[in-house]
Amino acid sequence: MEQTIRNQRVFFNNNNTKSLSFRVLALKKLKRLLQENEEILNNAIYKDFKKSSFDNYTNELSLLYKDIDEATKHLKKWASIKKVTTNLVNFPSKSYIIPEPLGVTLIIGAWNYPYQLSFAPAIAAIAAGNTILLKPSELPINTSNSIAKLINENFDPSFFKVIEGGIPETTTLLNQKFDKIFFTGSVPVGKIVYQAAAKNLTPVTLELGGKSPTIVTENCDLKTTVRRLMWSKYLNAGQTCIAPDYVYVHETIKENFLKECKKEIKASNYNFENGNYVQIIDEKNHTRLVNLIDKEKIYFGGKHNITNRYIEPTILKNVKDEDEIMKDEIFGPILPVLSYTNLSEIIIKIKERPKPLSCYIFTNDNKTRKKILNEISFGSGAINEAIMQISNSNLPFGGVGQSGIGSYHGESGFKTFSHYKSILEKPNWLELNLKYFPHSKIKLKIIKFLMKLEF
Ligand code: NAD
Repeated sequence: MEQTIRNQRVFFNNNNTKSLSFRVLALKKLKRLLQENEEILNNAIYKDFKKSSFDNYTNELSLLYKDIDEATKHLKKWASIKKVTTNLVNFPSKSYIIPEPLGVTLIIGAWNYPYQLSFAPAIAAIAAGNTILLKPSELPINTSNSIAKLINENFDPSFFKVIEGGIPETTTLLNQKFDKIFFTGSVPVGKIVYQAAAKNLTPVTLELGGKSPTIVTENCDLKTTVRRLMWSKYLNAGQTCIAPDYVYVHETIKENFLKECKKEIKASNYNFENGNYVQIIDEKNHTRLVNLIDKEKIYFGGKHNITNRYIEPTILKNVKDEDEIMKDEIFGPILPVLSYTNLSEIIIKIKERPKPLSCYIFTNDNKTRKKILNEISFGSGAINEAIMQISNSNLPFGGVGQSGIGSYHGESGFKTFSHYKSILEKPNWLELNLKYFPHSKIKLKIIKFLMKLEF
């Protein structure tokens, strides 16, 4: 591990990753490898938690192909020197900003979208001209193996290397010095990563989780709301960082809302055979989730089977803010439904919790939409939709407060893996002596005037 990092540093310091042609070739190669190995990647993820080829394409691989296409298309612009104006005090000179790669980067992935969460940051890191050490999550072991095989058999390890493993391997990695650490995972592990990075003052991006609220107002379009909400909640069996965690629905439509939810879940016929449902990732998470199901409050679902790690899409009703299920991120197919009558009151409750990764608002009322957007801080969100904001790479993706630090996707990913080096360039043909000794009142007056002007 130490040797690989040393080799990557030499490779980087020799400027091998800096030319745009190197970056574009690497990105195109990665896309070709992913495409050529789609079947292997599909089989691996199916073995791990029965994720179908349809889902693997729509919510993992297709996003990566799009990321690569976009990066190769816009790289010249993203990496170009940006001219800025100069203040008159510096006359005659010009000012510009040079985007430069950070260096040797470490990317640590989470398990729930294992290809997406490993390769999307890697694509941004390559585009920005860095070397990469990638540590995918060890939980989907077949997926981790296939990521390692794909990269380690095809890329120079001094540029791009996958290291597999769990806590011990990640801990060893975190003891090394990197120029950037990009972490996706839980809040508690995010804190470990942040502390490890602090020892070397390494910049970090933390893509974390939390409880993402959904507010359904009395004047929403109920059928469409429920359709979009149920799909986004039960996609990947609720194991999505930006899944709606819980719902506040207006008291006056609560019963109709619940009935529609039941209808929608039944119509969607979620099961492994249909390819629209996945297993809970492991027994530990299965047990954790089952313990969160309060039998007294089940409105729909609740069945489970640990042998094949199945938990039925479940809705809990009459949930209170103090209930166990409202304490931590659920990260599974259980939806607590709470009702409200006063919007301001639930806004206060949401704001008493850590700032969420996402927030969803289903409403036809502009005033309500504006009020929520103005008053609640969250990473990203959607109006009359849920989770689809992630598919627009023009929207920087990340958390705020406890749900994360920094963002990526599209150009924001390039920025995350870049340093913007500021330069003032001055010719030698003119030397004003204003700043030099001896000082005088008239000099100060001129300086004060010049400080206000730009050219
Ligand atoms: P996790 O924090 O348990 O693991 C993430 C990574 O950290 C894995 O690679 C794992 O090997 C490593 N790790 C685990 N424990 C460690 C330790 N003690 N020391 C060092 N490394 C350690 O998270 P997870 O279970 O893989 O993923 C679920 C969490 O990730 C949820 O909270 C979810 O919301 C969040 N998540 C966030 C995003 C996002 O983009 N914001 C995306 C997916 C998942």
